[in-house]
Amino acid sequence: MKTQNSSSNHALVLGASMGGLLAARILSEHFAQVTIIERDPVTSAPESRKGQPQTRHLHGLLASGLNTLTHYFPDLPQALEANGAIVQDFAETMHWHTYGGFRKPFHMGLRAALMSRPLLESLVRERTLARTNITLRDNTAVKGLVPNPERTKVIGVEVERRGASTTNETITADLVVDATGRGSRTPQWLTELGYTAPQESEVKVNVGYATRLYRRDPNDPLGRSWLLSTPEAPKESRFGAIFPIEGDRWILSTGGWAGDHAPTDEESFNAFVRSLPNTDIYRIVSYSEPISEIVSHKFPANLRRHYEKLARFPLGYLVLGDAISSFNPTYGQGMSSAILQAAELDKILSDDSTAPERLAHTFFVAAAKVVDIPWQLSVGEDFRFPQTTGPKPAGVDLINRYIAAVHRATQTDTVVGEAFLKVMNLLEPPTSLMTPRLMWRVWKANRPARTGARIPAPA
Ligand SMILES: Cc1cc2nc3c(=O)[nH]c(=O)nc-3n(C[C@H](O)[C@H](O)[C@H](O)COP(=O)(O)OP(=O)(O)OC[C@H]3O[C@@H](n4cnc5c(N)ncnc54)[C@H](O)[C@@H]3O)c2cc1C
Repeated sequence: MKTQNSSSNHALVLGASMGGLLAARILSEHFAQVTIIERDPVTSAPESRKGQPQTRHLHGLLASGLNTLTHYFPDLPQALEANGAIVQDFAETMHWHTYGGFRKPFHMGLRAALMSRPLLESLVRERTLARTNITLRDNTAVKGLVPNPERTKVIGVEVERRGASTTNETITADLVVDATGRGSRTPQWLTELGYTAPQESEVKVNVGYATRLYRRDPNDPLGRSWLLSTPEAPKESRFGAIFPIEGDRWILSTGGWAGDHAPTDEESFNAFVRSLPNTDIYRIVSYSEPISEIVSHKFPANLRRHYEKLARFPLGYLVLGDAISSFNPTYGQGMSSAILQAAELDKILSDDSTAPERLAHTFFVAAAKVVDIPWQLSVGEDFRFPQTTGPKPAGVDLINRYIAAVHRATQTDTVVGEAFLKVMNLLEPPTSLMTPRLMWRVWKANRPARTGARIPAPA
């Protein structure tokens, strides 16, 4: 075993996916040197790696995530478009069918980027690694933490370098950030060092995804539209979405809650797509040439690790992204949550008054505030299904009845539509939907007389 020279002012980021890359970009302004350690081999091409199998499935980036990424990588929207992605108004171009109808389109000026997750990540990676003080060490798996003799501080990690032969090494650093995703081993590593593992909240949903790529005719009149179908739960349990992405392709992901998963054989997959209430999704599938196999992914549960509640935590160590919380992916919040957490870290590191011994707690409290909102939104929606199990937030059934009415109101009222999209994009808190003015509009839009009885009143 060899030991790399201890460099003062060196930060280590574990994991080179969306959370790790942005964390490294941010740390590069606060540390002389930043090293990213990634278990998989990484190339410069857009790729789905073994360590992030979810990236083969449809990934939408919320406006809050895109805005924050653009703050750190100002040319990102242009680079996305130059590579064939579509950046356009969220409210104008999204054909979203839910609760028996389509949300009314309108101009909002809220940018959405439609691309494959590997393209987005490759552009973020390229820009991160272009910074001269960031190095990526791929093919290198983190095996454990290295503490100081008193076990009060993490001073590095033990890694296994994979290649023709396997070598073990210790890499030292002043700060280590775990961005290894949902499978993070920090809870075990903490107990090995004599600390308590964080309490976990788990809300089981048993969601399954199946995804396929299709060729997209650039002259297709629907070719810049993105179509969604989400269920009127619990009587419906299936979702589907088809987005135009780079390379003149469509990406279609479909599936359902509570075990209602899409099959991966062609005939049954097509029948599943045909069963979606937004029939335009199947229409596109029926005239487009499939160009990939059908791949599946199972998502068992929303998972949250409450690092903010720990009384003791080692110095020089943080956790970020899916390693803190992973949400039911159908709401498209995971990347934006990781991005917003990284931006909180930037704020805290920029504040000279944060003493090193307060860093972890201050960060975990800020990250928990970021996570609270997507957690509340996704877990709240998931509890519409009676099969969902886990800690149920107080009052969620009542809130869900109101949100169902909000969904219906977005079919006719663009003021409600705008307020709802801001919440969904993590730009405003859910309480912004509860103002008297908005509740009045929601009530009005749900009155059978006004809507021609097309939209049933909330139960
Ligand atoms: C089916 C599906 C669809 C989704 N759709 C969306 C969507 O539409 N929009 C959205 O915003 N989010 C979506 N998500 C969530 C999104 O993929 C995650 O939130 C996001 O990838 C989290 O990034 P991360 O960097 O925290 O972790 P991850 O992306 O999980 O990356 C962890 C990285 O750490 C590496 N690693 C792991 N262990 C080690 C180790 N011991 N040593 C070194 N490296 C290691 C892995 O190889 C990997 O590169 C979806 C998720 C799923 C499952």
